[in-house]
Amino acid sequence: MNILLVGPPGAGKGTQAKILEDRYHAKHIATGDMLRAEVAGGTPIGLEAKAVMDAGQLVSDDILIRMLGARLAQPDCAHGMILDGFPRTVPQAEALNDLLAASHRHLDAVIVLEVDEEALVARISGRFACAQCGAGYHRSFHPTAKDGVCDKCGSHEFTQRPDDNPAVVRRRLAAYREQTAPILPFYTARGLVHTLDGMAPMEQVTAEIEKILRQVGVAAPA
Ligand code: ADP
Ligand code: ADP
Ligand code: ZN
Repeated sequence: MNILLVGPPGAGKGTQAKILEDRYHAKHIATGDMLRAEVAGGTPIGLEAKAVMDAGQLVSDDILIRMLGARLAQPDCAHGMILDGFPRTVPQAEALNDLLAASHRHLDAVIVLEVDEEALVARISGRFACAQCGAGYHRSFHPTAKDGVCDKCGSHEFTQRPDDNPAVVRRRLAAYREQTAPILPFYTARGLVHTLDGMAPMEQVTAEIEKILRQVGVAAPA
């Protein structure tokens, strides 16, 4: 299974990708996470990307396309992938098409999560993650079972993204409208787009995605 999860910041792409990854044995590939790892590692890409990310703008197509090309060539993607946060521009969508064709792969579906802007700001301002294992949470919508303890690994340390503040979020939303939404006609023309109500509770969104996957002939492995 090869699918794209598309939606504005905070739409629930990462949350859904993590759930689907386990059920479908497909690799979750999040370019935002990859870039944050480059920043944390102080690599040349990280040094170039940091200021752009902190400002809520998009990192260059050139960097992203090279980074994703290298990632898709790794053996853990061979059985399928859930792309989260890529492509974010029309040139990235075209490059992805070429990369997939060159490795005899194709997309099964492009799933678009729609959420109101006000809800996005609330989601993003409450978002935090485990500093140890990366599990994602929300202060109100998905808190840890025990206060201050990660459900997955028991860690007591959590982080918040520096770009998850209201001023930067507004710029990220504008980048989505202006640069990312234009990729949708590219996929609509190929009959791949399925739009979902991302305002629904998490489990309901997952159920809707699974329904679409069945419709396009992708079954969850037993
Ligand atoms: P969100 O969870 O808000 O959708 P991500 O974690 O996917 O955000 O991305 C964080 C930031 O990383 C983006 O604001 C952008 O600066 C950069 N980024 C991630 N993916 C891409 C991409 N495909 N093209 C350009 N920039 C990207
Ligand atoms: P994205 O990867 O699209 O930027 P996330 O999956 O990180 O978005 O979700 C943003 C925040 O909203 C997280 O704190 C997450 O726990 C929460 N969230 C995700 N899906 C839902 C939902 N359906 N309803 C309420 N909150 C949600
Ligand atoms: Zn953890």
